[in-house]
Amino acid sequence: MKKYNSTIKPKKRLGQHFLESSEIAKKIVDCLDCNDINTIIEIGPGMGILTNHIIKLSKNSFFIEIDNESVDYLKKEFSEIEHSIIQEDFLKIDLKKFKSPLAIIGNFPYNISSQIVFKIIEHKNTVETLVGMFQLEVAKRICEKPGSKSYGILSVLVQAYYETSFEFLLEPTYFNPPPKVNSGVITLKRKKQLELKCNEALFFKVVKTSFQQRRKTIRNSLKVFNLSNNIKEDVIFGKRPETLSVDDFIHLTNIIANENIST
Ligand code: SAH
Repeated sequence: MKKYNSTIKPKKRLGQHFLESSEIAKKIVDCLDCNDINTIIEIGPGMGILTNHIIKLSKNSFFIEIDNESVDYLKKEFSEIEHSIIQEDFLKIDLKKFKSPLAIIGNFPYNISSQIVFKIIEHKNTVETLVGMFQLEVAKRICEKPGSKSYGILSVLVQAYYETSFEFLLEPTYFNPPPKVNSGVITLKRKKQLELKCNEALFFKVVKTSFQQRRKTIRNSLKVFNLSNNIKEDVIFGKRPETLSVDDFIHLTNIIANENIST
C-alpha cells in the first residue's frame, strides 16, 4: 500500500481521519460519473489524497475545506488549482454560486455527514450525483430498503430523489488515525423525476413524524395530524414506518393532504 506523507496532525473536532491509500482514493474517485456534470465539489480535501485524482478529471472543480492548516497545505501542494481551494464550512456555503449540475465528492467528516446529506437533498435541483465515504452505519442506512432495522428518515428522503448504491466497505486501518468504526463508500445518482407526486413539505413532515417512534404504527405516530377515524381505516395506518417505501409515504401524504382539504 502506498503511504501518503502525513504532515498535518489530525484534529478530532473536525473529524479528520486521513485516508492513506492512493489506490483506494482512486477507487473512490473512479465511482464518480462525470457525464452531464459542470462542477465537481470536494468536501474536506484535507491533505488532498482524493484531490490528486479529482484534478485529473479536468472538470471545473472546487475544494471546500474548513481547516486553515489543510488549506495552507493544499495551496502549496496543488499550487496550480490554488484559486479553487476555498476555506469555508461546507454546511454554510451557498451552492448556488457554482455552475450546475454539480457532483459532490468526499471522504466526509463523520460528525456532520447527515447534515451534508440533508443539504444535498435541499439542493437536489443542482446536485446531480454524489460519491461519499461515510461511517458504515450511515452509508448502509442511506441505501437501505424498507423492512430493515436501519431503514429510516435518511433512507426515505434520499431515495425519494436519488438512486443509491453501496460501493464498498473500508476498514479503519486505511486511515490515520483509524476511526472506531468501519466506513462505506456510496454513490447517489439523481432520479429523472424530481417532483414528488404529493405536497413535498407535508411529505417531509409525515416521514419525520412517522419515524419519531419507529416501533409504533403509523396510526399512533401520526396522532398529531388529528386524522378522522374514517381515514385511519386505510391499511397503511396499521403498518410501521420501517415497512413503508417512498411510494407508500407519498400515498400516505396524499391521504393526509386530502383530509385537510375536506375538513
Ligand atoms: N479527504 C481527506 C480528509 C478527510 S477527513 C482524506 O480522505 O484524507 C475530513 C475532512 O473534512 C478534514 O480535512 C476536515 O478538516 C474537513 N472538514 C470538517 N468539517 C468540515 C466542514 N464543515 N466543511 C468543510 N470541510 C470540513
